[in-house]
Amino acid sequence: MDDEARKAKNRIIKEKGRETRLRHASMRPVVIELKLDLKCLNNAERDKLFLYFAECRWLCNYLIGLESDKFKNFSTKTRGITSLDKDGKPVARSLMMPAKFIQAVYSSLKQDMSSLAAKRRKTGKKNGKLKFRSSYDSIELNQYNDTHWICFGPGGNANGRYKNTVHIAGIKRPIRVFGMDQIPADAECANAKLVKRASGIYLMLTCYIPKHDGTAETEKKPGIGLDFGIKTTITTSEGEKFDISVQEQERLKGLQRKLARQVKGSGGWRDTKHRIQREYERLANKRRAKANQVYHDIVTDRGLVVMQDENIKGWHKGLFGKQVQNSALGTLKSKLKANENVLMINRFFPSTRMCPVCGHIHEDITLSDREFVCPACGYAEERDTKAAKTLLLAGGHEIACTLPEQKRTPVE
Ligand SMILES: [Zn+2]
Repeated sequence: MDDEARKAKNRIIKEKGRETRLRHASMRPVVIELKLDLKCLNNAERDKLFLYFAECRWLCNYLIGLESDKFKNFSTKTRGITSLDKDGKPVARSLMMPAKFIQAVYSSLKQDMSSLAAKRRKTGKKNGKLKFRSSYDSIELNQYNDTHWICFGPGGNANGRYKNTVHIAGIKRPIRVFGMDQIPADAECANAKLVKRASGIYLMLTCYIPKHDGTAETEKKPGIGLDFGIKTTITTSEGEKFDISVQEQERLKGLQRKLARQVKGSGGWRDTKHRIQREYERLANKRRAKANQVYHDIVTDRGLVVMQDENIKGWHKGLFGKQVQNSALGTLKSKLKANENVLMINRFFPSTRMCPVCGHIHEDITLSDREFVCPACGYAEERDTKAAKTLLLAGGHEIACTLPEQKRTPVE
C-alpha cells in the first residue's frame, strides 16, 4: 500500500469512528459480564489464552523498564523483548499475541504515564514512576469485529454449533459463553475487556442500548434522607432499615488456617491459595449484588435523595474496620454519589444532634443513646431515623436556597 492509499484508508477509519461515537452518544452504555466456557477449548488453545495474560505482563514490565526516549519510540511491531524470571535473570521472550493486544498495552501505559506527568505538574512533587506489575489480569479488546466478536443465537452454521459463542483474536475456535441472555436484542456491541479471575476468564462486553423515550413519566416518590450508621448500616427517613453487611464465611477462615500450615510454594499450598481467591471473589460478588439491590430500592423513582458525605475510608482505619469492610457500603456510596438526584450534605453538619422539629442542637447525645429526645420541644424518635429526617430537611432547605442561582447559570 502506498502513502496515498494509506492516508485515504486512515481518513475513512477516522470518519467511521466519528460516526460511531456520535451514534453511541445518544445511547446508553452497559457492561455485560460473560463467562467463557474454557472446556470447549483444547489444551493448546486454553494455554494460549492464559499465555496472553502472561505476555501482556512481560510486555508491560518491559515497557516500564525502558528509558523514556526508547519508550517513546517503541514500535508496536516489536516481537522480541526481554523480561526477568523468578530469580531476576533476564530471559528473551518472543510475543505470540495479536498485534492489537501489543498496541493496547502500549497505549494504556502511555496514558498512565501522561496522567502521572500531569499530576506531577499539578502538585510539583516528584511522585515516582509506574510500578512493575506482578500480574496482568485485564486485557483491553478495543475493536469489535477485530479483537473479538460474538455469534448470537441462530447464527453460525446449520446445526447451531457456533451459537452463543465469542471469538477472540488469535484463537480460531469460537468459545462458548454463559450469560448471553443479558444482551438486549437491540444492543450494539462495542469494546470489551478480557478479565482473568480465580473462577475463570470473563469477557466484560460494553453494549450500547438505544434510549427509550420516557413518555410514561412515572410518578416520583417523595424525597428521602439516608443515615449511614455502623450497626444497621443504613436507615431511611421513612424508618426503613437496610442491613448491607456480608458475612465472611467460616470456610474462608478454615482455608486461611490451612494455608498457614502448608509449605509455601508447594502444590497443596497453591491449591489452597486459589480456593481462598475464589472465596474472596464470591464475597465481592455478594457485596456488589447487595449494593445493587439496595441502591435500586432507594433510588428508583426518587426525585431527591439526601445523604451525608461521611468519611468511609476513615472508618476503615478506626474502631469499626471489620464491620465496614464486610459490607457493601463503599460500593453503594460511590453508586449513590454518581446519581444526579443525590444531594450530598457536608460531613460536619450535625445530623445526629439537630432536632428536625425545632432545630435545637442536642449536644449531650452519645453513641450509646439509641433514642433521640429533644430537650427543647420533647420530640422523640429513634436515633438513626431522626438523623435521616434531619438530613432530608437540610437537603430540602439547601435546594430551596440554591435553586434560583442555578437557574441563572447560562443556558446551553
Ligand atoms: Zn426539638
